[in-house]
Amino acid sequence: ALTTPIVELRHVFKNYGDTTVLKDIDISLEAGKFYTLLGPSGSGKTTILRAIAGFLSVSGGDVMIAGQRVNDIPANQRDVNTVFQDYALFPHMDVFDNVAYGLRIRKVDKAAIMTRVQDALHMVRLDNLGDRMIGELSGGQQQRVAIARAIVLEPKVLLLDEPLSALDAKLRQDMQYELRELQQRLGITFLFVTHDQEEALALSDEIFVMNDGQVQQSGTPVDIYDEPINHFVADFIGQSNIVRGRMIADYQVQFNGKTFECADAGMRPNEAVEVVLRPEDLDITALAQGKVAVRVDTQLFRGDYYEIVAYDDADNEWLIHSTNPAPEKGLVGLYFDPEDIHVMRFG
Ligand code: ADP
Ligand code: MG
Repeated sequence: ALTTPIVELRHVFKNYGDTTVLKDIDISLEAGKFYTLLGPSGSGKTTILRAIAGFLSVSGGDVMIAGQRVNDIPANQRDVNTVFQDYALFPHMDVFDNVAYGLRIRKVDKAAIMTRVQDALHMVRLDNLGDRMIGELSGGQQQRVAIARAIVLEPKVLLLDEPLSALDAKLRQDMQYELRELQQRLGITFLFVTHDQEEALALSDEIFVMNDGQVQQSGTPVDIYDEPINHFVADFIGQSNIVRGRMIADYQVQFNGKTFECADAGMRPNEAVEVVLRPEDLDITALAQGKVAVRVDTQLFRGDYYEIVAYDDADNEWLIHSTNPAPEKGLVGLYFDPEDIHVMRFG
């Protein structure tokens, strides 16, 4: 890119004793975008945020903020702020004082504090709650105070560590809309952490999928959903049917003993691959020549589709979101558009 990234990690490693928890992390964030670190618990997401914020020192590599190497710059001098998982609010202070705290530490004058805290509270739609004590707020309101406290310092980057994980499902969904809208309104870079793939897909301009201290894949939500790079990503993001197969030639893949045209090329002839088909790309049809045969095991009516679980003759499970119900029992054919076949290198 021609512009300097606002945050960049270059070959970053982190060791605890003999354990390497970050393995050669390369991440580059542009100004003004919504990024997400997505991965299971223990994959290294919080460690990355802490490395950027300056709460830990990395074992190798460079941490860059706005083009400056900050490995040796203390946390309070980095132009980033963190919203912690548990919010870390001060329970003995009211909302206003919680938000004003960082400004007072920085000896900002009284009039400016008044204006900036009110602006920040307005941003998160808490205009009239400045006098409330933290304990008198709902979970969603506390969450917004935590965000206000971070944005009042006008950081270039806001780091958010699973900020929605404590909220119930409905509020969580509301807050997803609010966070996305807030990021666009503020125009600053968000680096958001979640283990929830739906949340990541819904919110992000770009996702980094983490596993075992490594970035497995980065890209837009659509890229990652449609073109997962390996088994882990295909399995972790959305629901997938993954079966072993073999490339016959460019644009020709074989699985379940049948050959299909596909959109993938560039592999060795006869190369072992994994084939991904999403449940929503599958339907059932009458069994016929060239169709993969499956035996229907269960089906549930889900309102806008039938969720069908079926097994092929190698006992692979197939999850199908069919528009039509399956016949009672017996064999049916899998129907799909070959365009929807996604092929991944195996291993
Ligand atoms: P995530 O946020 O994705 O759940 P973390 O970044 O918190 O994962 O942790 C990544 C790995 O590093 C985990 O295996 C965790 O046990 C380990 N880890 C984190 N902090 C420490 C520490 N202070 N000492 C030793 N191991 C740690
Ligand atoms: Mg974490």
